[in-house]
Amino acid sequence: MAEVETGLEKELFPWHLGVFDAHCHPTDTVASLDSIASMKTRALTIMATREQDQSIVANFANKLGVSEEPMPILMATEKPLGRVVPSFGWHPWFSHHIYDDRANSSVQDRQVSSKRDHYGRVICPSPRDDQEFIRSLPDPRPLSDLLYETRSHLERHPIALVGEIGLDRSFRIPGTILIDNEYEKDPALTPGGRDGRQLSPYRVDLDHQRMLLTAQLNLAGEMQRAVSVHGVASHGIVFETLKATWQGYEKPVLSKRQRKRRASVGTAYENEDKSEGEQRKPKLASPKPFPPRICLHSYSGPSDTLKQYLHPSIPVEIFFSFSALVNFSSQSKKAVGVIKAVPDNRILGESDLHAAGDRMDDLMEEIIRTICHIKGWSLEAGVKQLASNWAHFVFGQRW
Ligand SMILES: [Zn+2]
Repeated sequence: MAEVETGLEKELFPWHLGVFDAHCHPTDTVASLDSIASMKTRALTIMATREQDQSIVANFANKLGVSEEPMPILMATEKPLGRVVPSFGWHPWFSHHIYDDRANSSVQDRQVSSKRDHYGRVICPSPRDDQEFIRSLPDPRPLSDLLYETRSHLERHPIALVGEIGLDRSFRIPGTILIDNEYEKDPALTPGGRDGRQLSPYRVDLDHQRMLLTAQLNLAGEMQRAVSVHGVASHGIVFETLKATWQGYEKPVLSKRQRKRRASVGTAYENEDKSEGEQRKPKLASPKPFPPRICLHSYSGPSDTLKQYLHPSIPVEIFFSFSALVNFSSQSKKAVGVIKAVPDNRILGESDLHAAGDRMDDLMEEIIRTICHIKGWSLEAGVKQLASNWAHFVFGQRW
């Protein structure tokens, strides 16, 4: 990123107040996981994305996971009780591996007649005649199977999130040609990602991606878990897909006068805005088709879309997280405007990095310094605000 002249650069970074990474992938580099215990960042929200990393995330959460009780992690100074919040989900880059076998599926032959038929249908342009490419893909897996597995992980990890899920209009599926013919370019990386391959011309059909996203949002709603969402080159359609899940559940938008009236007659009204600083008791979670909280990770949409998400009728608390890697690589000007526009209590910081360790700490420091500068916060106030926002996002309570 372009160095931001903050004047804060020399100020010592207040790690002791608690820094929380809202979205990262250290399980992509399993060897790096041991370094989490000695990192300056207090806790990592670790995303699963595909077949190969679900159990790595689960196993690691068993080892270093956060307990159900959020306070130890927030207060921990010397001996943190947990450093990991796991998140289970299927990323859009791997969405073609899944086929919709549910009874209400719009796909005619739910039994998936053949691997070739399935991939021929969900990948565009259709690779039906590209046998080598089809052969390189795994046997498709039924959606019911994936949802069953995700549900079991969520049951075993009561604070786990759902993610990373989402839509991506611009990505292309890795093909069969290896870059420089070095298949094991980086043997340290967990397989199932790009694996040193050149990108093919193929993309996953957006309707198929939406089907998978919606199914996972519904599961998160049923289990009342927060969600981390990926949206690239598809901001409008991400919003439409999320919105469809809460259709019919919108909050009534009251005028100031109506709100006053309700308050004066003592009506307990669940959806009333709480006054600033008021502690909110966690609500009893009842299943719904949409999650209670959503983080739009490495948010790169325009300020206009941001406004849609902040409309008072939306029954979901939407957070926006930013990373030095994505938001401040090429489009910093846009990100500055968006960060200014995000409400103070809805902003999060993330590394989105594929390995734990010093680099992850550096990226967290970098994005937090940048956010503080843009927001006009002191580092101390900013780190505290971001910690409180992260706890609100993950645990569903205001701190
Ligand atoms: Zn990610």
